[in-house]
Amino acid sequence: MILEAIYHEAYGAYAFPLNRNQLKVRLRAKKGDIIRAEVVHGDRYTPYEAGKDTITVMEKVGSTDLFDYYEAVLHSQTRRLRYLFHLTDGNQGIWYGERGFSDSPFSCQPFQFAYITEQDLFQVPDWVDDGIVYQIFPERFANGNPQNDPEGVLPWGGEPRWDNFFGGDIEGITQNLEYLADLGVTVIYLTPIFQSPSNHKYNTTDYYKIDPHFGDVEDVKRMVAKAHQLGIKVIFDAVFNHCGYDFFAFQDVIKNGKKSKYWDWFFIEDEPVVTKPRPNYETFANDVWSMPKLNTKHPEVKKYLLDVARYWLEETDMDGWRLDVSNEVDSWFWRDFRRVVKETKPDALIIGEVWHNAHPWLQGDQYDSVMNYLFRDAMVDFFAKGTIGVERFHTLLLKSQLAYNDHANRGMFNLIDSHDTERFLTTCKEQVERMRLAVLFQMCYPGMPMIYYGDEIGMVGKNDPDCRRTFIWDPHQQNQDLLNWYKKCIQLRKSLPSLRKGNYRTWYINPTGNVYGIIRGSDTEQPVGVLINNSPFTHMITLPAAWKKGHELVDQIEGQRWAIKDQTVEIILKPYQGLVLV
Ligand code: CA
Repeated sequence: MILEAIYHEAYGAYAFPLNRNQLKVRLRAKKGDIIRAEVVHGDRYTPYEAGKDTITVMEKVGSTDLFDYYEAVLHSQTRRLRYLFHLTDGNQGIWYGERGFSDSPFSCQPFQFAYITEQDLFQVPDWVDDGIVYQIFPERFANGNPQNDPEGVLPWGGEPRWDNFFGGDIEGITQNLEYLADLGVTVIYLTPIFQSPSNHKYNTTDYYKIDPHFGDVEDVKRMVAKAHQLGIKVIFDAVFNHCGYDFFAFQDVIKNGKKSKYWDWFFIEDEPVVTKPRPNYETFANDVWSMPKLNTKHPEVKKYLLDVARYWLEETDMDGWRLDVSNEVDSWFWRDFRRVVKETKPDALIIGEVWHNAHPWLQGDQYDSVMNYLFRDAMVDFFAKGTIGVERFHTLLLKSQLAYNDHANRGMFNLIDSHDTERFLTTCKEQVERMRLAVLFQMCYPGMPMIYYGDEIGMVGKNDPDCRRTFIWDPHQQNQDLLNWYKKCIQLRKSLPSLRKGNYRTWYINPTGNVYGIIRGSDTEQPVGVLINNSPFTHMITLPAAWKKGHELVDQIEGQRWAIKDQTVEIILKPYQGLVLV
């Protein structure tokens, strides 16, 4: 047994309560090394006694390139746990505890999960399980009211530049909610809608005012109310890392220098405030003068922004916040933010913007989940660019799942592109068959699939600002095949609970054929097999039929039936074909 590879810790993604009486634990070991892993556990005030402790056998839930991962759910009536792992390979059994390995449980210090406290339970709104998210860039989605268009507005369909406008607004969203409901969308996430001079509105002038080019608060209320009638939740964008240059407090600082009562709201080197040759104050990213960074540690700044967070929830009855550049704002701010949001609306959702491993923010005290760029990166490299094979793809996905607890994984915004990236179809070099396969997989993956507006009708675009083109509303200009494919995949997800709530287990990995198979299922739900042929070749594959009942597998997309013989099934996969098998 390779002891160096074995790892557990009694917190984070390795040990987290599912509810008052259940603790999920994970264990890592060298790939292929262990044949059996058990958790031996009891109340932490009762010492270990052979035969008295509970033994829970761990399930091997997956393997990455280097490691096997095991999971178990430990039940505890007292909510106070101590536990040891007993691990077996071909030759030996060994005990593993907090201070290392031992031949005997009596000389092995157990791991402790001292108490499952009610307050620390991570609660994500239940509605995320059925979520299909649609991201809208309001300036470019639909122009529902030409009366509010900015001066110099350009005809719909023009080339997006960093500073031009096409007149999209809130009314445009309201008018097209039926379209979104018909697509199967249950959540819309809007990039910022508060007053701001830019088309993207990430440099806020007034956090309490809807941008007049988008409409007013009554328009927003109407939009949210209609969305709710159609079963659609609405998420706003909270840009709290920085404000806009025109924000009243920053303007006061420019005017009054250090005498301004807002001086400490920002990080300014000295007076006077200058923007050239470089801004002498902290900004978003590198020297973006139009976005001064806010000092969220300052009690007045904090109060101001938390009031904003509460105000829009109460005023419009919207359903949560997506947090811009959330990883650069202090964690104490987010802890208070979470308290305010959940007190105001207990089933509101909080989604951070983090492009890397977001584990520190996903412990239940800050965000519910994040925009899943780890997923997006893997999807782009595997499906769109073809720069990684199926083994690497699988490893990346599994690592991202295991980096987080189950609660955070439920609420992921699983995107394949966004307003900050090239469009997926463009990355695919417009090979629609690659995109179709990726979308099917996206709809079969744990967490909430997120569709960037227009992807479903085949919109293309390079990086920002080109990825922010105006939506194509003329049906003859839309890729109707792709739109129908989206609808079909979404309906599959809705009709098969396992695709939404089931476990994620590896079924089949074929590196030479680039074929990937997973099984989504649980103790209570019927398992669903998903097979992906990410190659231009036809493959005939034989794979184990994990289903105990039934004699055939039926593809839910084309209806083809495959007979199970001797617990295996032979399946023919066409180029870039995906199957969803029940
Ligand atoms: Ca308009």
